[in-house]
Amino acid sequence: MMDSEVSNADICRVCRSEGVADRPLFHPCICTGSIKWIHQECLMQWMRYSRKEYCELCGHRFSFTPIYSPDMPRRLPLKDLAAGLLSSIATAVKYWFHYTLVATAWLGIVPLTACRIYR
Ligand SMILES: [Zn+2]
Ligand SMILES: [Zn+2]
Repeated sequence: MMDSEVSNADICRVCRSEGVADRPLFHPCICTGSIKWIHQECLMQWMRYSRKEYCELCGHRFSFTPIYSPDMPRRLPLKDLAAGLLSSIATAVKYWFHYTLVATAWLGIVPLTACRIYR
């Protein structure tokens, strides 16, 4: 009779079953209502089948943050920091080399050319 009460239970948009303890429902995109929830393996299966990483209804790229969040602190931010530092040092060295080359060229070639013009 009351359809709105029936749809209150959160069900997976793929297999239409509810989330349980070992198969929790995730909310990977910004869709709302009855298509909001999906099982992790249902989403993985859908992504493998459709070859899409985003929701075709809302266009939002599926977020796996709730699934991968326990691994986040182990992502070695020190390594990223070192890589960023190395790349900035490499850029600085490149610019230094470039300007040294330009300066050498100007200091060496220009007086030589000037000498030739004067002769
Ligand atoms: Zn499912
Ligand atoms: Zn969506």
